Amino acid sequence: MNTYKCLVCGQAAPLYDVVDFNKSCEEYRGQFLPLSGHAVYYARCCSCNYTFAPEFASWTDQDFLEKIYNDDYIKVDPDYLDKRQQENAVMLNNFFGAYRMHIRHLDYGGGNGRLAQLLSGAQWQSVSYDPFPKNNTRLSDLGTFNFITAFEVFEHVPDPHGMMENISKLLEGQDSMVFFSTGISDGLIKDKERLNWWYAAPRNGHIGIHTAKSLQVLGQMHNLNFASMGTSFHAYYRKFPQWAENLTKL
Ligand SMILES: [Zn+2]
Repeated sequence: MNTYKCLVCGQAAPLYDVVDFNKSCEEYRGQFLPLSGHAVYYARCCSCNYTFAPEFASWTDQDFLEKIYNDDYIKVDPDYLDKRQQENAVMLNNFFGAYRMHIRHLDYGGGNGRLAQLLSGAQWQSVSYDPFPKNNTRLSDLGTFNFITAFEVFEHVPDPHGMMENISKLLEGQDSMVFFSTGISDGLIKDKERLNWWYAAPRNGHIGIHTAKSLQVLGQMHNLNFASMGTSFHAYYRKFPQWAENLTKL
């Protein structure tokens, strides 16, 4: 099969390129893993330009834990345990800290829970949820939140609509926002070029690479407005919350 159905918008997504499974984000810093011999094909949507690797749709949680989120994951994402959370806590405090008493926060895909821990230490109401590593928390037990963050999550998800359904159920009321980071490929993954962008990295679990358009379409299909603050940070919202006004100054 050489044409798939886009996992975001449903339009035709022909195969785009193939890379070795061990292609990692650390290649950006000149670190290359040995080739694995496992070829990972990526398809790219003709309409929204979402670029995804179809093989991961059939992976089980166990497959992801054994082959990607294993003990060696830290080698391809050294900021995973603490550095990124420290930086994100500072950023969230800068943008939203003054309004924290109005915010019930969930860090979706929060890994080891470090960000929620840091924010809780700064008098936020903050909890974390992550499907990996396996835990006993059920989504339905979490309650609802008017502020959900998802840092470096969207590019890891084999089922974008499944994730959005989860997030929509967790999002409380009209004045609510999802603030998230994922690299967008606009101008970086192009026609008639190879998939050279460092961010397209199966070993890091980067299996679905968005564009501004694919993020907008995904939000629209779940009744969410979309705003992008540059190439990494984005937001979905129902009605733009007053407590998020600092974002409009960016
Ligand atoms: Zn599409």
